[in-house]
Amino acid sequence: MIKISKDDDITFLNASVTDFADSLGYCEYKIPLSMKGIRPKPTQSLILGTKAHRAEEKYEKEHVEFEPISEEQIDDKEEDVEFARENIYSTLMMPFEFPANNVLLTLSGRIDKILRVDETLVVQDDKFAGRPQTYDNKTQPYPSQLLQVLAYLNSSYSSKRKPRAEDFFEMPHSQKQWQIRICDRKTRETYKVFSDYQDAFSLHYLHVSLQKFTTISLGMSKPEHHNSHQKCNACNLKSFCEHMI
Ligand code: SF4
Repeated sequence: MIKISKDDDITFLNASVTDFADSLGYCEYKIPLSMKGIRPKPTQSLILGTKAHRAEEKYEKEHVEFEPISEEQIDDKEEDVEFARENIYSTLMMPFEFPANNVLLTLSGRIDKILRVDETLVVQDDKFAGRPQTYDNKTQPYPSQLLQVLAYLNSSYSSKRKPRAEDFFEMPHSQKQWQIRICDRKTRETYKVFSDYQDAFSLHYLHVSLQKFTTISLGMSKPEHHNSHQKCNACNLKSFCEHMI
């Protein structure tokens, strides 16, 4: 849910990475719905995807033994480190100075997998698809998938769900890379991987999207309609939405 609060002359806008990625990457009209506290009913596909995520986490716990990682190792950019799946929470904080408003946007999330290899900070996100073949002709991930991993890559990290200031850590690196694994939901095997390094273009895309998310949430701009009947038809909020076409 997207929440707004005020303290002196700062407006705090808090949301999940999913709220952000799903609205700016799929439909901006999801913002007013999320602000009203409307949540989609879990679809069968979401339930099965969540089960597959849990199974993957359990498999890793049973088959991989991770050495404890010290603060010195995290701080050393030349040290390769890998955290256990679903064990690291992300917090992206972005201040905006608008003429009439100082805003602090905070996006919280949980990362499927984060590691550092050869000075590269890598964030992986797994999508468990019932029919992974639907991705055969795609050369790029969906915008919502890309925004999600870009938000993770530009966050601070913590092993606590509700971190205090001293719980955050950074991962020094020379470059950043995102990987989106499309997996078969039944076998959990990887079917296809989208991957790239973060460049100036993708960082600009993230910044523009964060700003748009902020201005729409605060009523400073209006959502734009994608005008796609197909998207509305597949939308998990269509039964609550007066802008469905
Ligand atoms: S029904 Fe259509 S307009 Fe409404 S939130 Fe969903 S995709 Fe957007």
